[in-house]
This record gives sequence, C-alpha cells and structure tokens, in this order.
Amino acid sequence: MRYRLIYTLLATAQELLFGKKLFFDWQFGDNWALKSMDILDRDLAAAENDRKDGGSPGTKDQPEYVYRRQIVWFNTIGFLVLHLGALYGMYLFLTSSMVLTMLWTMLVAGASAFSVTMGAHRLYTHRTFKCNDWVKALLVFGQTVAGQNCLYVWIRDHRQHHKYSDTVADPHNASRGFFFSHIGWLMVRKHPEVIEKGKKIDMTDIEMDPYAMFQKKYYKILFTILAMLMPMVVPFVFWGETLWNGFFVCFLFRLMTVLNLTWLVNSAAHLYGNKPFTNDIMPVENVYVSMFGLGEGWHNYHHSFPWDYRAAEFGQYFNLTTMLIDFFEEMGWVWDKKYATPAMVRSRVTKRGDGTHCKYARPQLKEAGAESSEAVEDDETYEELFWLEERSAKTAELVDEAQKG
Ligand SMILES: [Zn+2]
Ligand SMILES: [Zn+2]
Repeated sequence: MRYRLIYTLLATAQELLFGKKLFFDWQFGDNWALKSMDILDRDLAAAENDRKDGGSPGTKDQPEYVYRRQIVWFNTIGFLVLHLGALYGMYLFLTSSMVLTMLWTMLVAGASAFSVTMGAHRLYTHRTFKCNDWVKALLVFGQTVAGQNCLYVWIRDHRQHHKYSDTVADPHNASRGFFFSHIGWLMVRKHPEVIEKGKKIDMTDIEMDPYAMFQKKYYKILFTILAMLMPMVVPFVFWGETLWNGFFVCFLFRLMTVLNLTWLVNSAAHLYGNKPFTNDIMPVENVYVSMFGLGEGWHNYHHSFPWDYRAAEFGQYFNLTTMLIDFFEEMGWVWDKKYATPAMVRSRVTKRGDGTHCKYARPQLKEAGAESSEAVEDDETYEELFWLEERSAKTAELVDEAQKG
C-alpha cells in the first residue's frame, strides 16, 4: 500500500516534469515488457496464429512475456560510488587542481571522446569511412582511455541498438524511459531478448580486426594502464600534481563526464527533440546533445542514415567529429567517406518526416494531388548549406581549370 502511494506520487511528478516522456519506467511496472514486446513480435505472433489454426491475424493468443526487472546491486552501488567520486573530482578540479592538470584533464576528455565518436561509432560500428592503420590504432588507443568497455562489446551493443531500436531487444531501449536508456540498462539484468538477439549481431569484420581483438583480449590490463593510471600519473610525474587529484580529477571526473555525455545520445537524443527525417522512430534531433556530444545529437538523421559519416544532415553545424574527420581527410589519412546526397535526404523527409525540416516540409500539397518532387522546388540557398556539395563543386571547378591550363 505504502509502495503504491510512493509509486503514484513519483509517477505523477514524472508526468508533470516530463510530460508524456518517461523518466523512470515505473508506469509499466513489471508489465512494461509486454507493451514493447508487442512492437517486436506482433507480426511474428500473427503469422504463427495464421499458420497454426487458420485463426484471425492480429494479437489473439499472443504469448505472455513476463519479465521481472532484476537489479544488479554490484553495478548499481558501483555506479553510485563512481558518480560520488566524480562529483568530488569536479570539486577538486575547480578548487585545488593545478592549471596544467585542468588542461590535461580537458585534453584527455576531448581526445578520448573523439575516439569514441569518430572511432568506435562512425568508423568501427557503422563503417562510414576508411582510414590508414595508425589512425585506427590511435582511435582504439583513445577509446581504451575513454573506458567505455572494450570495442567489441561497444560495437555489438550499438549495432544491436540500431537493428532493434527502442524495442525490448535494444540494450538501452528508450521506451523504458530516460533513466533506463541513460544508465539504468547497466544496472539491471539484460532482458532475455537482448541476450538472444545480441548473439546474432554480425561481428565478423571486428573479429578480423587485429586492433579491436587485441584490445578485447587484454582489456582489463589495458583499461587499468590507459584509462586509469596514465591520466593520473602524467600530471604527477611532469608537473608535480598530487596522485589524489590525479585519481579523482583526471581519472574519475573525466571518465564519468565523458560517459554521461555519451549516454545522453541514448537517452535525451531518443526523447527530447523533433523528427524531420523519420517520424515513426523514437530518435530525435537534439541540439544540446550535439553541442556537448561532439555532433552525435542529430540522432533522427543518424538513425535514418546510419552509414553517413557526418551523422547529421549538415556536417559543420555543432558537429566537431565531422570536422575532425574532414581534417583527417585533408591530411590524406581518411578516405571513402559515405554520405547521403541532398536528393536522398529530401526524398526521406518528404516521405517520412514529421514536417519540421528547415526546408523540406512534408508537402501538404500532396493531399492536393501534387507530386512531392514538384511540391519541393530546388533552392539554391538550401543547397549552399550543404558544404559537401559546395566543396565537390569547387573541386570540379579546380579540376576543370587544371585540365584547361
Ligand atoms: Zn540511437
Ligand atoms: Zn549509431
């Protein structure tokens, strides 16, 4: 009875604060799984019914899935302690650490975050561009410093997240609310569907990658040396910072900050924002996540075109990772970048967008019988926003000139 009351109060507070968006998955109780399972297995169950007894297709006789949330207390208390340590680290960062230590912490945070966004995400998980070996080695090194589990697990989880987005087979299913998709998924036993479907994710390319497999084999020792010891020992040796500050500032505060920014892509960028490209999925465009997450918050676009190296429609707008990849390309270290053309984007927006796109509204004209291609006329200024297009045009000009001269 008391729990019911607490639950109702919390649920009401959540409703008031976050509207229809969940913060915690209290509302569903133990039965939330049934709800999400519908999305994933509705068609399967219907087909099965049809096959068995010629029964009517639909939701009749759907199997009952009972999932009980099992908290893993070791992880839960562990994350609590890590966050308290990180808060203390933030206090030390602001009050007692040396200026060089502050700069060093920011450098390690930045470099390791870029290794996650450019390396683990855009290079390894989605294969959006190709690069030479030392860039790859550098990114694997940086991803180890970020301490977000080994690449192999990171990539498998993320590929699974894209394949089964926001269903029960998604490791950080955002339909279970902000908290679950942010950090809660690391504090409970995995849903059986996550385990089941996870085994079927194609990882053959990673299994053939010597860097990723070396990191997987020696992950614990590599984590201890690169994510923990290296960041705290460098300030101690080179400019006499205390190891105490090194541990709390350069290790804990830095690691947990980058982790939380990464998690925001799974939580906030699936809940708070608009959907100009694909309206029937949860991921959204979130400018704040993009600002602090090095360009990974344009998430409706990213889930619409996961193979686009920009992970956003406009490469340059709050998208530091794209800028870095382009810089690497200028230097000749990166090549074969894949990206969606304006025509592809327009087609997707007009077919499946929510109507909030800056240029291509979903044509209401369509109802009047006009073709979507007619409804959206080409606009020079819009095309100019595509710096990619702009640049390829420039390149063509240069090539022309060179040929003439
Ligand atoms: Zn996502
Ligand atoms: Zn992705």
